[in-house]
Amino acid sequence: MLTKLLRRSTCAACRQCCRFDRYDVWEMPLLSRETRALAQEVVPEAEYVSRGTDAWIFRVRALDADECFVCPLLDANTGCRLGSEKPFDCRIWPFCIMELDGRQVITIAPICEAMMALPMGTVLSFLKEELADTIFTYAAGHPDVVRPYDSLYPILLWKPQEF
Ligand code: SF4
Repeated sequence: MLTKLLRRSTCAACRQCCRFDRYDVWEMPLLSRETRALAQEVVPEAEYVSRGTDAWIFRVRALDADECFVCPLLDANTGCRLGSEKPFDCRIWPFCIMELDGRQVITIAPICEAMMALPMGTVLSFLKEELADTIFTYAAGHPDVVRPYDSLYPILLWKPQEF
């Protein structure tokens, strides 16, 4: 979905978004019921924790300071084992949908150096023309995907009033 902005090879060499230390484990992708069913086929040993009314995340034991939880769906050689069926969170990352003062906003994860290096105008144009409507529409049907606003994430777009 984001290949107009990021090269596949850039993402393949990074995979930062598939690893979580104890400070950002809250960013783990939410799995819808359908995505969890797919994940259970691929990694039957994984465990899940409910997050919201119809969403789950992988269970993570307490991490040490220098330890990372690697998403069980990550294959070191080929990337995400779910391919194009990966969670919505992952399909739109480093964009995120959050809620601030009762209104949805699209933010960007500052940890994604490749995206943060792009001209902001390019990123905003892409978001407005190609992705924002998809994100807001998905969130309308899957409210669990909307996270509380985190002030470390720059806001790129507010949900239009008329949406
Ligand atoms: S589901 Fe796939 S893309 Fe998402 S964090 Fe896990 S391995 Fe990465």
